[in-house]
Amino acid sequence: MDLGIRGKRALVCASSKGLGRGCAEALAEAGVNVVLNARGAEALEATAAEIREKYDVSVETVAADVTTPDGLAKVLGVAGQVDILVTNAGGPPPGSWTDWDRDNFIAALDANMLTPIALIKALVPSMMDRGWGRVVNITSVSVKAPIPVLGLSNAARTGLTGYVAGTSRQVAGSGVTINNLLPGLHDTDRLVSLDNLAVEASGKSLEEVRAEKYASIPSGRYGTAAEFGATCAFMCSQHAGFMVGQNVLLDGGATVSTM
Ligand code: NAP
Repeated sequence: MDLGIRGKRALVCASSKGLGRGCAEALAEAGVNVVLNARGAEALEATAAEIREKYDVSVETVAADVTTPDGLAKVLGVAGQVDILVTNAGGPPPGSWTDWDRDNFIAALDANMLTPIALIKALVPSMMDRGWGRVVNITSVSVKAPIPVLGLSNAARTGLTGYVAGTSRQVAGSGVTINNLLPGLHDTDRLVSLDNLAVEASGKSLEEVRAEKYASIPSGRYGTAAEFGATCAFMCSQHAGFMVGQNVLLDGGATVSTM
């Protein structure tokens, strides 16, 4: 399918690896010029080189922590005016409700709620002026089905979800859509390290740990970054112009609900 977005310009945050990279690659495959971001310059440049080699698009990079005021300013400076924004960053650490204090909540809110909101506020006005734009926020299955040890993530991402629910309706009339893409378990570096922690804690093999996780997913496997990216690219396409304020869940059926 031609996604109809060839020649557009996208900022994809936190995109040297994992789900962000999957989104950047799928957009590049659709002919979109991409600005990639991550904190670590080495992996970022390696990913940029691979995408340049594979697709006939321009690939710019900005090495910065997008969740800090300085990093955000740097990212926005390189991005300039974009047609497509994909927000993403690392998730807050796990823990227990008795551990988290105000500083922990402020850090989580900064990273997973206030940074995407700041990016939206900075970049959506020019999309509205030009009558077209797409925003996809990478959030988590935890906004539909909370993960108890990820209380900081549950709280911050649900806050962003509420903001998007209202704001997306305020901007849709100008041709700009804002939606959220919710990953369930996907086979990225992050999940490999979580699985390795489970191996250490349980004494089981990686295969055993993964087999147990797969058993909880009707699809019987983890999702891939390529599948995730393809869904993101569709949500950024011309065809998704009537999709407004939605929360699209990719979890292999793991969350049991009727809607
Ligand atoms: P990943 O494989 O660890 O990749 C994370 C990417 O984001 C890397 O490129 C990393 O590069 C970059 N990054 C992290 N923090 C950043 C920051 N502050 N500023 C700029 N770049 C940053 O992680 P992932 O699995 O793709 O997860 C992406 C998001 O989805 C996370 O918020 C995660 O919590 C959420 N999620 C993932 C899953 C899953 O199963 N994978 C499920 C639910 C939710 P640098 O480290 O060099 O900055």
